Amino acid sequence: THFGFQNVAESLKESKVRDVFNSVAKNYDTMNDAMSFGIHRLWKDQFVQQLNPGKKSIFSEPMTILDLAGGTGDIAFRMLDHARTVNGDPETRVKVVDINEEMLREGMKRAHGLGYRTEGEDAPISFLVQNGETLEAIPDNSIDLLTIAFGIRNFTDKEKALSTAYRVLKKGGVFACLEFSKVNNFVLDQIYRRYSFSVIPMMGQLIAGDRDSYQYLVESIVKFPSQKDFARMIQDAGFQLAGKGWQDLTFGVAAIHTGVKL
Ligand code: SAM
Repeated sequence: THFGFQNVAESLKESKVRDVFNSVAKNYDTMNDAMSFGIHRLWKDQFVQQLNPGKKSIFSEPMTILDLAGGTGDIAFRMLDHARTVNGDPETRVKVVDINEEMLREGMKRAHGLGYRTEGEDAPISFLVQNGETLEAIPDNSIDLLTIAFGIRNFTDKEKALSTAYRVLKKGGVFACLEFSKVNNFVLDQIYRRYSFSVIPMMGQLIAGDRDSYQYLVESIVKFPSQKDFARMIQDAGFQLAGKGWQDLTFGVAAIHTGVKL
């Protein structure tokens, strides 16, 4: 607005998101398993398998992947593992970018535990604190594949994040987003809503000692646009959608959206 109220609200939201993920960082992986009965692992596996990261032949270049809002590295480790074991490519690299240092710190611990180097130009995995809406340290047209899993719904300005993703991708580069979405079955939707509004905040209290952060997460899922509206936003940022632009997972509890920069 003319009076800047919107900006105040938005910056409040940004610091709130930072607080939420600061307080959940240590328990983040345990909570994900508990809340989704481990299903988030299957969704993440499917997401990465479909994207099939890595060199496809000895003539192609290794990929530069940016995993935005990458947190503790769940997607990044799957990418590296897939490139190596499925495509025999140890050169493909992943940059894990997140606004929250605590989440990245957990990710870095995991990387070292798995024996990955994280420092140096040629490190297979690196961690970078950045606001995904601007990605100031990432040059234009430099990324082959940009992924974001369960991240964009926390962004204050989603349109800005999408046009930034477009900016940093090379021509022919792929944007892929895995996110909670709208359940496409009426009965399941009722059960799911009841579960998320009562059980998840309670689990947050019991497992992580933090009810409010998990209440916030549930609310952010409800507020996120439908599959179709989000596909339109991706298109508006300049991407070409593949088919209708998304694929539902588990009756739309989550969805994968993809777009290509032509
Ligand atoms: N992608 C990981 C996964 O699937 O396990 C982490 C998802 S976690 C639910 C959401 C992440 O988004 C948090 O690590 C949070 O810090 C990050 N995030 C929120 N707003 C962000 C922003 N503006 N820029 C970059 N990361 C952001």
